[in-house]
Amino acid sequence: MIILVDMDDVLADFDGGFLLKWREKYPDEFFIPMSERQKFYMRDEYPPELLDKMTDLFTQKGFVANLPLIRGGVEAVKNIKEKGHEVFICTSPMRQYQNCVAEKYEWVEKNMGFDWTTKIVLSRDKTLIQGNILIDDKPEVTGAVKPVWEHVIFDKSYNAHVIGQRRITWQNYQEVLKEL
Ligand SMILES: [Mg+2]
Repeated sequence: MIILVDMDDVLADFDGGFLLKWREKYPDEFFIPMSERQKFYMRDEYPPELLDKMTDLFTQKGFVANLPLIRGGVEAVKNIKEKGHEVFICTSPMRQYQNCVAEKYEWVEKNMGFDWTTKIVLSRDKTLIQGNILIDDKPEVTGAVKPVWEHVIFDKSYNAHVIGQRRITWQNYQEVLKEL
């Protein structure tokens, strides 16, 4: 199978990394603990007046390159590849691409090894990419065309409302992939 794996909040802990830096820099400011997140985009559940400050933080140099790991993700993806599947890291860069794009490559090289940088597929529209499954935490992945892959939801509090789709975590992925 060709397995497309999303990067942010599936392999790299974007939201968790943000929260850590946010609390460090603005300890008295409003925040939402990860387990209480209800919306996919932080901008949809943080007060609008904080958005500029938040954007400054996650677009600053080094933010993406130094994101923490989602536990078990890198090991799982390497294991899936060893089982004979083709694995690609399918990721949408931020609109503010200046640091983000190069640092996604840096992150992958640092945490997974250089060879994995050749498996990165950057696209703001994942429906254009071919594959058997897409593992992604976004509740609905839409775009220009009807995707050929099955969207397997990477389990998070903010996508718990999505029903009728397979769900996966890095703890249960082996059983979920066996069903496919
Ligand atoms: Mg994601």
